[in-house]
Amino acid sequence: MQKREKAGKILEILKREFSVPQLSSITEDPFKVLVRTIISQSTAEVNTRRAYQNLSETFPITPEAMDKADLTELEKTLRVAGLYRNKAKVLKNVAKVILEKFNGSLDFVYSLPLSEARKNLMDLPGVGPKTADIVLLFCANRPTLPVDTHVNRVSKRLGLVLSEAGYEDVRKGLQELYSPEEYFSVHMLFIALGRNYCKALRPLHAVCPLRGLCPSAEF
Ligand code: SF4
Repeated sequence: MQKREKAGKILEILKREFSVPQLSSITEDPFKVLVRTIISQSTAEVNTRRAYQNLSETFPITPEAMDKADLTELEKTLRVAGLYRNKAKVLKNVAKVILEKFNGSLDFVYSLPLSEARKNLMDLPGVGPKTADIVLLFCANRPTLPVDTHVNRVSKRLGLVLSEAGYEDVRKGLQELYSPEEYFSVHMLFIALGRNYCKALRPLHAVCPLRGLCPSAEF
């Protein structure tokens, strides 16, 4: 079976297995998405949610408020997330740069050419390609496919990309296999697969809906 055909079947099966939230239902202010994604780095979803909620109950999630926030107070709200001291510093730094360089607005994510908008985001302190791609896709529906730890792992186990591929190779490899309208679904469904079946340590091959298509399935 050709790789593209296999990629299509994988998506079809995952769409039957899991539901995908509507992109419009999670689209929001790019600064808020940026803050949430920074908090989520190396942190479980449940703790990211709690830390973000603590933060938003204490401060308005704006560059102005983050810049002025007391570092210790900021740390306190983020404690439930891992690396909270570092994340509090990153949030203050990133807010400062957005105020100084972009007049407090990330609206360029909607208007600049994709590569330029991506570069602007990745030039911010503490922002790597995954965070930039999440902001671009989730807020502005720009055609880029964020590769988080689940997307990376399952793409490799399924043989859609080479096992030694780095971030950019996985992103581009998946983008070639799917159409831009599918990037959001692929991102969300691969995460669902990784969380529910294709776990990092003990993948549930025997009950995985993709076992018939997967070269890594072991019975
Ligand atoms: S069969 Fe196993 S390795 Fe393949 S996607 Fe499913 S859980 Fe992952």
